[in-house]
Amino acid sequence: MYSSLIGKIEKALRYAMEPHQVSIHQLLATFRRDHSEYDVAYVDGKWQCTCAFFEGYTTCSHTMALQRTLGMMVPEELPTRVPPGPAVHKKSCSGLQS
Ligand SMILES: [Zn+2]
Repeated sequence: MYSSLIGKIEKALRYAMEPHQVSIHQLLATFRRDHSEYDVAYVDGKWQCTCAFFEGYTTCSHTMALQRTLGMMVPEELPTRVPPGPAVHKKSCSGLQS
């Protein structure tokens, strides 16, 4: 009995070293921090989060943390909406020319 359990543990250790052979299709998780709690889901290739930032940008620190943690087991999804960047003010370079 113990030898078969030891064999399973050894196999589990090998599997843990081969995350590329695992695909996650669904995931539910909860982030708890201080006084806040956010539910994160990965279903049908799409991330969801209950935090306010995700609503505006379709990505957030919670989904990015799970993408980083799970690595290649779930595809990394780029935000579909790009936030507006800060206004660019060009500086005059006339004083730098020699
Ligand atoms: Zn979030």
